[in-house]
Amino acid sequence: MNQGYAAFVARGECLPHSWQNQELGDEDVLLDITHCGICHSDIHLIDDDWGMSSYPLVPGHEVVGVIRAVGPAVDPTRIGSRAGVGWQCGSCGSCRSCRKGRENHCARSRATCVGRPGGFARMLVAHQNFAFPIPDAIDSAHAAPLFCAGATVYTPFRVHGIGPAMRVGILGLGGLGHLALQFAHAHGAEVFAFTTSRDKQEEAKRFGASQCLSYDLQQLIPLANSFDFLLSTVSADLPWDAILGLLAPEGKLVVVGASPKPMQIHAFSLIGGARTVSGSAIGSPSQIIEMLELCARTGIRPQIETLPFSQVNQALQATRSGAARYRMVLEN
Ligand code: NAP
Ligand code: ZN
Ligand code: ZN
Repeated sequence: MNQGYAAFVARGECLPHSWQNQELGDEDVLLDITHCGICHSDIHLIDDDWGMSSYPLVPGHEVVGVIRAVGPAVDPTRIGSRAGVGWQCGSCGSCRSCRKGRENHCARSRATCVGRPGGFARMLVAHQNFAFPIPDAIDSAHAAPLFCAGATVYTPFRVHGIGPAMRVGILGLGGLGHLALQFAHAHGAEVFAFTTSRDKQEEAKRFGASQCLSYDLQQLIPLANSFDFLLSTVSADLPWDAILGLLAPEGKLVVVGASPKPMQIHAFSLIGGARTVSGSAIGSPSQIIEMLELCARTGIRPQIETLPFSQVNQALQATRSGAARYRMVLEN
């Protein structure tokens, strides 16, 4: 039997819960979980913000643990080693996206905590290709947030070729945003941070921002038409037309923050300057491995606060209220 914490109703507290572990497939690994980060997607799921939750719901998809058992097709020397699992715990392996190495776009992707119990638990089963070895340089508590937050904000910089001489803006400095600042800085861009939280302004500079601003529209006027790339990690709605006005001609806004509210954009905000809006979903296994190597090499890490799993509701409340600096991580 597996044990952990589940929400039983939308917006409810997480309560102790137990269930039968999923059977270990030929290519699966079974992790003894040591750590699990709390992503705002866990809050969206608990609250049924996206209208897709079913209960009891065991959240958690920034999972780190030690491999306890492996299926017959998995290298048995992985037993006893550390591994991390993010939002995705499996894919079909045969569709066009999987064959291209973009497994994160697989239509038959398996999500770690949607339709199956996630990482607020003692154990987790994942496909071997989605349970990533953790570089020795990264301790388990700091590794956990890299598997969702880290992957999600690293991938757009690679896909969109961000580099030196580009002006980049990061919107929202939560779990994703504070890592995005560090990745943008590591790619050599000039980085601006946008936040609603005054106390984050100084810290943003420590994470690599050259300037930190609020969304005050007056303050933004001198910056109009100047950004090559904006990344929104905000979990709520924003004044999108004003934000698009910050983009230089042919500039791009990439949205990873998943506000439940539909985005409202005036056609002329895109037509003028031929600006682009796109989304981005987590990262592929090869992008995740690359991101882990970059973090190991450069010292990029999430800033975390740890709590024992038994204090899961306090940790969730810190994320929900915006008090977390910058990622809550549960420890078994
Ligand atoms: P988080 O730690 O709660 O951070 C979100 C940040 O958004 C907050 O810290 C705050 O930043 C800002 N914010 C919140 N409400 C706001 C409002 N009303 N107006 C302006 N800014 C506001 O959340 P997270 O874990 O980083 O996740 C962020 C979003 O990304 C969530 O929607 C999550 O579901 C989504 N997500 C998407 C993917 C993907 O693959 N696309 C993966 C993971 C997460 P400031 O204090 O700096 O203003
Ligand atoms: Zn997540
Ligand atoms: Zn596939």
